Amino acid sequence: MGWDDILGQPYAVKILQNSIRFRRIPQAFLFFGEKGVGKRLTATHYAKVINCEKGGLDCCDDCLSCQMVDNNNHPDVRSISPENGRISISEIRSLKKETGLTPVYSRRKVYIISEADKMTEEAQNSLLKTLEEPPLDTLLILTATFRNNLFPTIISRCQQIRFSTLSNKIIEEVLENLGVRKDRIPYLITLSGGSLGRAKEYLNRKVPIEEEWVLDLIDRVNRYGVNEIFKISQQILDKKRGMDVLDVLVAYFHRCVKNESDLPFANPIYALEIVLEAKEWLFKNANPRLVIEVMFMRLLEDAKDV
Ligand SMILES: [Zn+2]
Repeated sequence: MGWDDILGQPYAVKILQNSIRFRRIPQAFLFFGEKGVGKRLTATHYAKVINCEKGGLDCCDDCLSCQMVDNNNHPDVRSISPENGRISISEIRSLKKETGLTPVYSRRKVYIISEADKMTEEAQNSLLKTLEEPPLDTLLILTATFRNNLFPTIISRCQQIRFSTLSNKIIEEVLENLGVRKDRIPYLITLSGGSLGRAKEYLNRKVPIEEEWVLDLIDRVNRYGVNEIFKISQQILDKKRGMDVLDVLVAYFHRCVKNESDLPFANPIYALEIVLEAKEWLFKNANPRLVIEVMFMRLLEDAKDV
């Protein structure tokens, strides 16, 4: 693959290409933005390009280094990601042990920490020490959905690159190329919220969560009040679909903000914020029952103002 295969991120690609062209590769990058928009793919591609034996602006895909990256067994390109929703200090420690060593094969060791915003505080403290005295020949690439979960001291030591959400057109094209039935595509686009990763997740589910069901929940809360919230939360928890419900709500409120549907809420932007906050809490592994109940209560307050 080449830079052209990274879809919908012209800004990030430009910065990364320039860093190679002008040989200004920093000690650490932080790629931040919505999940499923290509951050990890881009990080791996960058690692491949800077270690390609041909040494061009893009990788050759043929040399041993490129092939090792593709086969996930390059000795100098390592990636870690959360286990059970967390990146622990022991993972950071083992990574640090390796950063002290010189590259085995390539010009530069690259460590990709996916979902770095899921590092525990201890892990972040430990990583910070590495960032304060960065080993030569080592590049760290952190990716994060919620940048603010990282210590400001970590953020400030990284060159930050924002990744945008993807346009409907891009998601539509990819889904078409995957052979998705045409009549399913608009629904998947709505649920995706600009994340190709999320569109694909929904694609693979046999029983997609229906917007109608979720909107019915909202309607019940507005009609029957607080007591209904406890019943509804239980139903959502029974289905183990907390995050899905929130995704549907985000898509719905996005449309409301753009005036594309009628709305039982005083302030759709505020309602959208409430749901996005709830998503962040769920992402941080807060108690799902509490998150969902508090979210519906806040939405109910907003609805009362209509
Ligand atoms: Zn190569």
